[in-house]
Parts: sequence; structure tokens; C-alpha cells
Amino acid sequence: MTMQPVRVRFAPSPTGFLHIGGARTALYNYLLARQTGGSFVLRIEDTDQERLVPGALENMLAALRWLGLQWDEGPQVGGPHAPYVQSERAALHRARAEQLVLAGKAYYCYCTRERLDALRTEQRVLKRPPRYDGHCRGLSAAEAAQLRAAGTPAVIRFKTPADGSTTVTDAIRGDITVQNSTLDDFIILKSDGLSLYHLAAMADDHDMGITHVIRADEWLPSLPKHALILRAFGWPEPVWCHLSVFRKPSGKGKMSKRDAAELRGTEGHSIFVHELREIGYLPAAVLNWLALMGWSYDDQKEDFDMAELVRCFSLARVNPAAAAVNFEKLDHFQGVHLRRMPVPLLATELAPYFVAAGVQADPAMLERIVPLIQERITTFEDAPPLAGFFFRASVDCSSADLLVKDKTADESAAILQRAHALLAALPTMQHSAVNAALTALAAELALKPGQLFSPLRMAVTGQKVSPPLFESMELLGREVVLARIAAGAQLLQAL
Ligand code: GLU
Repeated sequence: MTMQPVRVRFAPSPTGFLHIGGARTALYNYLLARQTGGSFVLRIEDTDQERLVPGALENMLAALRWLGLQWDEGPQVGGPHAPYVQSERAALHRARAEQLVLAGKAYYCYCTRERLDALRTEQRVLKRPPRYDGHCRGLSAAEAAQLRAAGTPAVIRFKTPADGSTTVTDAIRGDITVQNSTLDDFIILKSDGLSLYHLAAMADDHDMGITHVIRADEWLPSLPKHALILRAFGWPEPVWCHLSVFRKPSGKGKMSKRDAAELRGTEGHSIFVHELREIGYLPAAVLNWLALMGWSYDDQKEDFDMAELVRCFSLARVNPAAAAVNFEKLDHFQGVHLRRMPVPLLATELAPYFVAAGVQADPAMLERIVPLIQERITTFEDAPPLAGFFFRASVDCSSADLLVKDKTADESAAILQRAHALLAALPTMQHSAVNAALTALAAELALKPGQLFSPLRMAVTGQKVSPPLFESMELLGREVVLARIAAGAQLLQAL
């Protein structure tokens, strides 16, 4: 069944860099918008100015763009509901708060800090949950007017129904009911006239015509308040969908900042989108991975590109259970998408990683090398250590690995010299010819192929693990191959 075009929003607070949890939230919103021909709105929620982190906003915009999650309305692109930065909508929020006061759904509260502190202490001593006692809710109009006339600072509090319960329906979790007695008359506007998050978000969602709110389940405790605000205004409720946060790779507990730092340091992984990009993961792999962390299609198909995700995604198959972050799975998808990449494109993507590793990689040569390494790398960062030898003037060999197994250094040197002579005389360096000639040489010297090829690999590539040896030799060319084998033999003779 095709749905009506949705209007969804991703509403990050710029209090940190975009992590995989946020990226998945953005992705699900994006998919639903694209699938239904709707709109994906990006709203920056910066009402908590004290928690803002410099650079976080730029980081988020860049990370979303890199993932291909382009927003239809929001910062940098504008739209009919601008501004899309919450702090710039403060006057709208204040007007909404006052509207609720006029409607008798909210009230001015003049309680001083001292009174509230005393109340809290008393509640602590009596082992009661901390909550506002409704003192100003009962003020008479005359009392309130007097306080206002005296210029007493005031906040606006929401009038939470004292009795009964509030039920909200979540698309993947069903009905969620809380007793209203557990919610207090929470503040919606501070004394400085700035709105608190609950009101700001609901007012913005309404004013921006948001039809579906897909967000992290850390917002579940706020959900009844959000529903009560919408109902107090008489506004329709969006479809709610609260996604489970991820658990640590071990499956135990929520990922902390320290866990995240350790991950980057020890495992070469990251939960931050910009770092996954730096490491050299493909946006397609990250998207595929994130899509399946909390959603499944048919328990069979796992490889999806963006077009397929747009077609296949549905809230009905979003799983409310928390998934553990599984980086092996990310590597799997990286492999899938990396092998699908056209060679010239992969070569272009890899080039900067060689530069960063201090290797001058000739673009034409790199394009010929890519088919040899495309199957053998997981991330872009893996490429220079594997294929840097193609571009270096010489390679560093470990002499121990130049030794032919079960032979002395002199014998090994002699064997390398035989290989040198053979390759020098070979009519072509075409890899199958090289393979045939060296295999025959191994047989003639009564060596197992590996006994001969391992030291040759070390001499030519400086590595114990390399792309296929004979193809590598063909690409390196006879001159370089001979020079490196000669250098290897010399190293052995000097032992
Ligand atoms: N600004 C909130 C956050 O960053 C979003 C809450 C919501 O989506 O309603 O978590």
C-alpha cells in the first residue's frame, strides 16, 4: 500500500558530531520521505545553548551530505517554513506558550529558586519524587496580576491533568500509558522568555506540518508530555516511532563516549560518521549497515543500495528491540559495495589515501592495480599498505623472509639469482608466462612452489601478503622486478 506523502524531520541538537545512531534516525526519515514522495526536513535544535559544541553543526551537515541524505528543507537550502534553526524561532515559541496560558492550559509561575530548592529538599527527605507542587496553579487572578505588576520573574508551566492517564500510540511499540500523577506541571517557557525543548519541538513540528516523528527511544519518557502539549493545542498528533538505541558491540549496555574513543584507537572502527568516512568506508556500505540495524526486509535479502532501500523500507518492519553494533557486518557490506564499484571510480577514491600515506600514486597505474586489490581491501585505508610497493622506488625487505624455506642464505641467494636470470630472458612479463616459467623453475630446483614464491614475493613487494604475485610483476615491469630480486639476493649474501 503506498502511503500519502509524509513530512518527516531529522532534528539533531548540535551538541556533538553525527554518530551512527543519529545517522540511522536520519536515514529512516529520509527513506520514508523518498518512498512516499514526501519531504525530509532538517531542523537544528539548539535551544540548549550551553551544550552546543563548536563545529558540530558543520560536521552534521557534511556527514549527512556524504551519506547522501540530502534534506529538502532546512539549513543551507531554506524552505517554506524557515527558519529551520530552533533558536531563531524563539518568538514563535513564546507566542505559543502565551496562547496556552490564554486557553487556560498553562500558567505563569512566580516561585523563587529558594522556594523550589526548599520544596526539593523536603521531597527528598520524605522520599517523594521531585516535582513541582502546583503552588502557582492556584493563584487567583488578582494575586497573579499583583506579582506581574511588581515585575516578579515568571516561567510558564504546562497544566498537566492531575488525574487519569495519558496514552500515546507508537507505530512499533503499540500503546504507551502513563499515569498523569507521575508528570508534574513542567516548564515550557523560561523566565528569560526562551522556550524549553518540549514546547519548542512540538510547536515546530506542528508549524512545519510534520506527519511522522521518527526518533530515538531516549525520547520515550518525554512522549506523554509531547502528546499532552499537542492535545492542549488541539493539534493532530503525528505518527510516532521511537527507534531503539544501539548497544555496545559486546551487546552489553549503551555505547559511551569513552567506548567510542577506544574503538577508534584500538579497532580502527568508529561510531562517528566523519571518522567512518576518514577510515575509508563507503557511504553505500554505511547506509546498508545502518538500514539493517533495526529494520529487516524479508530475513533473506541483506544487500541493498539506496534505491532498493527507498523501495523496500517500511516502518512495519522496524524492530523495537535494541541491536548491538556489529562492525563485522559493516565490513561485510563494505566488501559488497566496494566490489560493485567501477574500477575508475575506486581508483579516484583511493588516490588521496595513497597521498596521505606518503605515496605518489600515478593515476593510470593505480587504475591498473585496482582490479588486483578490489577483492582484498575492506576499507580505503587498507589500500596503501597493500599496494604502496607499486609506487615506491625500492622496498624494505625483512631478510628472514627472503630465505627459501629449509635453505641457507647462500642457497637462497642463488635461487633468487636463478629466478632473476629466468625472468631477464623471458620474452614477455605477461603474468601467465611468468607463472609458468617460475613454476617450472621451482620444479627443476625440487622446491615446492610456495618455497620459491614466498621469498620472491618478499623481494618484489617487501610484504608477506600482497596482491597476486605474477600480476603484480607484470604491472611492475621487468626492470623493477629484476632490480628488486637482485637487491634481495644481495641482502641474503650479506647475511
Ligand atoms: N533534538 C533532539 C535530539 O537531538 C531530537 C528530539 C526529537 O527528534 O524530537 O535528540
